[in-house]
Amino acid sequence: MPLAPLHQPHNLAPIEAIARAVPHIPQVACFDTAFHRSQPALAQEFGLPRKITAEGVRRYGFHGLSYDFILTRLNATMPELARSRLIVAHLGNGASLCAVRHGKSVASTMGFTAVDGLMMGTRTGALDPGVLLYLMERHGMDAHAIEDLLYRRSGLLGVSGISSDMRALRQSSAAEAGEAIALFIYRIVREIGSLAAALGGVDGIVFSAGIGENDPKTRAEVAAGCRWLGLEIDEDRNRRGETRISADRSAISAWIVPTDEESMIARYTRQVIAGS
Ligand code: AMP
Repeated sequence: MPLAPLHQPHNLAPIEAIARAVPHIPQVACFDTAFHRSQPALAQEFGLPRKITAEGVRRYGFHGLSYDFILTRLNATMPELARSRLIVAHLGNGASLCAVRHGKSVASTMGFTAVDGLMMGTRTGALDPGVLLYLMERHGMDAHAIEDLLYRRSGLLGVSGISSDMRALRQSSAAEAGEAIALFIYRIVREIGSLAAALGGVDGIVFSAGIGENDPKTRAEVAAGCRWLGLEIDEDRNRRGETRISADRSAISAWIVPTDEESMIARYTRQVIAGS
């Protein structure tokens, strides 16, 4: 609770309400951070004094249930791919990347909270902390106002001034919509470079979630920024949304794997209930 005072009360309230109303019903909590606990210690640390790190201020990563689902699916259908060095792109209203080796998380773009890393629908993504100091000093913003800015007024919505929704931005002819999309893509490509370094090379890239599964333009633009990795997309496969969208001659492969976090939660819940 002390590590996420803005979110945990809101997550714990229904658990407490259900426990009061129907105490005989078992409740299972599935943590979106659990999949990332396989990361090496270095990937989880900030350059902060040890005392603060020991308090639990470190990179937890999120979208773990989504990555877990995707790796479980790949393991069942393409086990060799699941064992290789992958970068999985969960590109929805929330967006992050995860570097995976042998099916385990090695690094991810999200950190202590779900606002780090990629630019998202309404969230900033990674931001120089100096900007926050500036806003506090210059504009007198407090924690509440900064939280609102970081989580709800930034990202595609803030940069475009039009919408947080990729479909609306793709349909818009306004220059600001194009600029917001360009920044979204640029940040993804930059972070793919960072995760490629953490993995020591990449064998495949997987696209998932609302934008990753449904927007061929975003996939093509990200792929164009990854040409230096040897990625070559097959335009027809990409347009049709086939499972494998890379060209046969591509040095690394690219895939679309629809995610399903809810079914992962159902699976774990069934396991816990069966075991209790
Ligand atoms: P999610 O949070 O995974 O539900 O993803 C929501 C995002 O996916 C929104 O930005 C939607 O605009 C985007 N999205 C869904 N369908 C499409 C589509 N056909 N083309 C482009 N973006 C889409």
